[in-house]
Amino acid sequence: MVNIFGLFKKKEVRQPQEEVSWEDIKDILAPYKRTVWFPKVEDQKSDEMASKFSGIPALAKGESWPCCSHCDEPMQLFLQLNSKDLPESAGKPFGDGFLQVFYCTNWDQECEIECEAYFPFSKSTLVRVVNYQPESVLSLDVSPVKDAFPEKSITGWEEQSDYPNWEELEELGLTLSDSQYEFWSEQEYPRNRDKLLGWPHWVQGVEYPDCPDCGNSMKFIFQIDSEDNIPYMFGDVGCAHITQCAEHKDKLAIAWACC
Ligand SMILES: [Zn+2]
Ligand SMILES: [Zn+2]
Repeated sequence: MVNIFGLFKKKEVRQPQEEVSWEDIKDILAPYKRTVWFPKVEDQKSDEMASKFSGIPALAKGESWPCCSHCDEPMQLFLQLNSKDLPESAGKPFGDGFLQVFYCTNWDQECEIECEAYFPFSKSTLVRVVNYQPESVLSLDVSPVKDAFPEKSITGWEEQSDYPNWEELEELGLTLSDSQYEFWSEQEYPRNRDKLLGWPHWVQGVEYPDCPDCGNSMKFIFQIDSEDNIPYMFGDVGCAHITQCAEHKDKLAIAWACC
């Protein structure tokens, strides 16, 4: 069987000259090392203020659940992060309040395809940061989303190290030798699965969206992988990334790519 994934990820190299180990490469990679946090989850419902995959988010009293601009149906909540629940050493990756990611999964209307939801700023998605005080948050017993995914509440974080892939390293100015490249492409970096910060696991090329206000590359905040905590497949085992402009904090996006 042809490894399609490999076709995208590999570049042409000569037969490696020498064996490379972690010991040989760790010093040149040290400047690119980042901490990444994997969410610890429980299959349980949590209150509107909690961090979670799916379930009920914090909405203001009088506010209606965000709907898809294509089908007008309430969108799935993919993720809510309360800035107070993040690991202390992660700082404030998106500011104060709740990062919320809504995504329309209405296949009857093919919103994902019609609205090209793999691109940032699609009309069938909504990524935002809201900062509601507890007393102004709406209390909702039942999600209005049709076939809402089961909630997983985020109860903690597991810290690990992360590094960019060879292509992003090259963009950052570090060119690996063929032997180093061979070694590096066998390592499991950047890490897949759902994660906070670290480096994006790009399935295709390095694709940070540009901020519509200033044109700068948006910064990576969170990765939502296919069928990890959300029972949803982005195309053919794609991987989605939440990004935000460092300057214009109200410019946030979800975008994904697959093989
Ligand atoms: Zn829709
Ligand atoms: Zn900007």
